[in-house]
Amino acid sequence: MWNLRYRFSAGAKRFGASRSRLQGRDLRLSWQRENALRHIAIIGSGPAGYYTAEAAQKAFGDEVRVDVFDRLPVPYGLIRSGVAPDHQSIKGVSRRYEKTALSDNVRFVGNVTIGEDVTIAELGALYDAVVLATGAPQDRQLDIPGADLANVFGSAAFVGWYNGHPQFADLAPDLSGKTAVVIGMGNVALDVARILAKTEAEFAGSDIVGHALDALRASTIERIVILGRRGPHQIMMTPKELGELGELARAAPHVDLRDLPPEADDAILEPGLRKSVTLVRGFAAVPEDIRAEKRIEIEFDFFAQPVRLIGEGAVEAIEVERTEVTAGRAKGTGETYFIPASLVVSCIGYRTHPIPDVPFDERQGRFANDEGRILPGLYCVGWARRGPSGTIGTNRPDGYSVVEKIGEDIGAGTLGRGGKRGREGFDALAAERGLDVVTFRDWKKIEEAEERAAREGAPREKFVDIEAMIRARD
Ligand SMILES: Cc1cc2nc3c(=O)[nH]c(=O)nc-3n(C[C@H](O)[C@H](O)[C@H](O)COP(=O)(O)OP(=O)(O)OC[C@H]3O[C@@H](n4cnc5c(N)ncnc54)[C@H](O)[C@@H]3O)c2cc1C
Repeated sequence: MWNLRYRFSAGAKRFGASRSRLQGRDLRLSWQRENALRHIAIIGSGPAGYYTAEAAQKAFGDEVRVDVFDRLPVPYGLIRSGVAPDHQSIKGVSRRYEKTALSDNVRFVGNVTIGEDVTIAELGALYDAVVLATGAPQDRQLDIPGADLANVFGSAAFVGWYNGHPQFADLAPDLSGKTAVVIGMGNVALDVARILAKTEAEFAGSDIVGHALDALRASTIERIVILGRRGPHQIMMTPKELGELGELARAAPHVDLRDLPPEADDAILEPGLRKSVTLVRGFAAVPEDIRAEKRIEIEFDFFAQPVRLIGEGAVEAIEVERTEVTAGRAKGTGETYFIPASLVVSCIGYRTHPIPDVPFDERQGRFANDEGRILPGLYCVGWARRGPSGTIGTNRPDGYSVVEKIGEDIGAGTLGRGGKRGREGFDALAAERGLDVVTFRDWKKIEEAEERAAREGAPREKFVDIEAMIRARD
């Protein structure tokens, strides 16, 4: 028997790397010398889940079996239900995950909710390592009076509605008013504003779901206010998404010149942000007659924080307080004003959904972890690990790093000596409980049915309820 701890340190020295930067080949060697097949359960089939599966395959090859669970019968998390329907090239990243999903030692186990259908302890008994890649699907609450009025939504719900997430397909936002207020200064706020502003023709080639397209076709919204506590130098909007606002058929963005800092101050910004701020400056320069030609105005209201929402049953207005920003922090000035608002969408961040028996960091809204380690044998990656930040690609190093940690922990003996039942044990449990597991092959049937149902020019028409997905498989 090899001394695995020694093997890891020797490997690290040879590569001149720290233990946490060990390469896949070394991990595989150590793993193989244990002479036991290892089983990994990954909970969540979004980017973090599939990058982790890819990393496990690269590191451990045939010596590992990976089960990727999802509570939905369809894979890919926010690639399907978050990324905007008119950003099909970004959604194309799922082809990479499909390659991993179709490999022999990785399988998709859809329609199973961990924490409800199966407990974490049960998975822990069956798999050597359990990796939570459950994302951050809950909206951070808008904590002001009136937030519970009708037609006030968090972005998880609103985005889920136009993207056909089964949980939010019945949201039925009322778009028959004049003014929508979108709270937040990130790309999600831009996505929401753009979707509200586009004409039907501009959705050609997108996979926006039919119910959302119908509602948007009938929409009477004329003004979209994007509200942010801080100023143009603090936005978290990227140039691509900002640039798109300037190219809309029936909508024009507008920024108040007085909100712009002196141009010379842009020099200290990092290049991406500087580019975004240049675009914001461009919005302030759009002449009034050009703006008047467009039916919808998209107005940036900087240095403004929501104080309360007002309305009888449904939202009718929002009270806003002016802020001033010192050292990047916004502080209310006491000066308030009202914006009429028939729809409010708050895009102020997300939280991970807790799972029974898994330590949770309430303040941060994610699983309590030390660089991905939660408890021996239990790990987390992606938004469930670090909260809702970064791009799709940011989840890749996360996945690779957690697999390195699993390798290290096997080497250190923390995960036992193997011999767990893995997928065979799970299948027995699923049969005993009567779980209706959806496989990757089933998903491909669902996908084909969605493609067949697509309206002209669209890639697919998504099923928006779980029963319809299951029927398409059968
Ligand atoms: C509105 C929006 C638009 C975005 N647009 C872009 C973009 O254009 N470009 C870009 O780079 N990034 C974008 N992002 C960010 C990107 O989507 C995230 O970085 C990425 O999806 C996070 O991956 P994840 O795997 O951690 O979580 P997710 O993608 O959320 O995946 C989590 C998965 O876990 C499953 N799950 C949750 N709980 C359970 C459970 N208990 N049991 C079983 N399964 C469970 C979920 O069903 C889901 O499939 C966007 C994000 C949002 C919210």
